[in-house]
Amino acid sequence: MTRPYNFSAGPAAIPEEVLQQAAAEMLDWQGSGMSVMEMSHRGPQFESILHQAESDLRELLGIPDDYAVLFMQGGAIAQNAIVPLNLSRGRKADYVVTGSWSQKSQIEARKYCDVHVSASAHDDQGYGVIPDPAAWSIRPDAQYLHICTNETIDGVEFHFVPDSHGVPLVADMSSHILSRRIDVTRYACIYAGAQKNIGPAGLTLVIVRRDLLGHALPHCPSAFDYAIVAANRSMFNTPPTYAIYIAGLVLQWIKRQRYDGLQGLDAVEARNIAKAHLLYDALDASQLFETRVARDCRSRMNVPFHLREPELDAAFLQGAEQAGLLQLKGHKSVGGMRASIYNAMPLEGVQALVAYLQDFERRHG
Ligand SMILES: *Cc1c(COP(=O)(O)O)cnc(C)c1O
Repeated sequence: MTRPYNFSAGPAAIPEEVLQQAAAEMLDWQGSGMSVMEMSHRGPQFESILHQAESDLRELLGIPDDYAVLFMQGGAIAQNAIVPLNLSRGRKADYVVTGSWSQKSQIEARKYCDVHVSASAHDDQGYGVIPDPAAWSIRPDAQYLHICTNETIDGVEFHFVPDSHGVPLVADMSSHILSRRIDVTRYACIYAGAQKNIGPAGLTLVIVRRDLLGHALPHCPSAFDYAIVAANRSMFNTPPTYAIYIAGLVLQWIKRQRYDGLQGLDAVEARNIAKAHLLYDALDASQLFETRVARDCRSRMNVPFHLREPELDAAFLQGAEQAGLLQLKGHKSVGGMRASIYNAMPLEGVQALVAYLQDFERRHG
């Protein structure tokens, strides 16, 4: 069976090898006679799955011991509340708004603390730039500064770590975690929903500096209190066991990757750079398609683009589907198209998309 290429923004494509391994192990995980779904989360088999996933994640991202890794539920949208509940102390928190997700984050945080927008990139075209960090107004007594390092809807990605002037930096990395190397030590807290680049929906990863724990607001639900989750090694409540298992298989898949003489996350990053170049070069060379995001913050993961003649949108999407290129419709708030090219999208998938773009333009341009 050849599968079509799935450009969904999330839940998104999962590496085929991972799906095959999960299928092979569905009824009997490694001689246990059980599916992972059926196992006690406190039994030795699942303990080993969780332990391996955490240690692979720590290895891939270089997460030091003074950071806790938490396997939570609720997605990044729940973290919009969980972060201020844990880290704001009910005082001040600053937010930089570079797209739809960071905008949502700062609105939710207002329920829990005094929020200040340090910079906003919204203009009459929507989002598409990162305001110069030198001009951000960061309150020195803010408990943290929040950014979204990859705006999934708007296609705006940080290719640098901004200077937060000593204020702890918190990042929503849902849609580009594990797509590139990061320096975890520059962040106080990183969170990511799994369904973009890690695995199935239902799992949320949190990487948080341990010295920030223990200051949750009194009404913070216990299951969302980072200190409690950390002290219980993500077993305060039943964690999303099957999603953690699949995420673990994805982490091992990342470790096995080879590209251009590189291995593991370096290989994945180099391949992501090559994929993004290929697609943006094709869009830049086109008279029919355009992308509005500034060059220095174009996302390697989510590529929104428009047809200059929107009356061709329906024909474009229909032809794409016939060519085995799925889920290219843009987010409803932005319109147009969006190609999400996460780790699991092979180079061949982007080549097929580019060939389709060029062919469509020849026929309709
Ligand atoms: C998808 C996404 C979210 C929302 O995730 P949920 O799982 O629906 O809570 C938040 N932030 C970013 C950057 C995302 O890509």
